[in-house]
Amino acid sequence: MKKSAGWMPTAYFHSIYSIDFERLYRRGFIGVILDIDNTLVPHGAAADRRAREFMEYLHDLGFDTCFLSNNDRDRVAPFARACHSSYICRAGKPSKRGYVRAMKRMMTDRTNTLVIGDQIITDIWGANLTGLPSILVDPINRHEEIQIVLKRILEWPVRKVYRSRYGMNRYDRLYAE
Ligand SMILES: [Mg+2]
Repeated sequence: MKKSAGWMPTAYFHSIYSIDFERLYRRGFIGVILDIDNTLVPHGAAADRRAREFMEYLHDLGFDTCFLSNNDRDRVAPFARACHSSYICRAGKPSKRGYVRAMKRMMTDRTNTLVIGDQIITDIWGANLTGLPSILVDPINRHEEIQIVLKRILEWPVRKVYRSRYGMNRYDRLYAE
């Protein structure tokens, strides 16, 4: 499994909805740790039909899933319930602790678990600290709160460097030795 360091994701796709998870499942991944806000739906939005059907698609393929969110229970629990997924709220990303708990809950490990999120400084950095392969996606909604906008300003150069160095939609980086 390819590991990434610092702020670099392992792979970068435009949207979580454009990823071929069947291909990833065939390569041995069985657990997915997912961010919610701006990864699956716009920030603060309820689990819409697209998100619910996507989660059903993952479960039908055989994946176990766990939402990992820094948001509170009021936000995360109803969303997870609608998507029939386990969850960890107030995760304190990028702390490793939530990622390790999510793997425990899914009974998966560092060789078969993927992380997906839209924020480098929380989702991707935490995956790298934990030693997990990660997929960065573009945020669904560009209109964000000011503290997130400030983080984005730090993120754009990383996205740009990643794209010029590796390109987008690189499945091979997720399972290359
Ligand atoms: Mg997010």
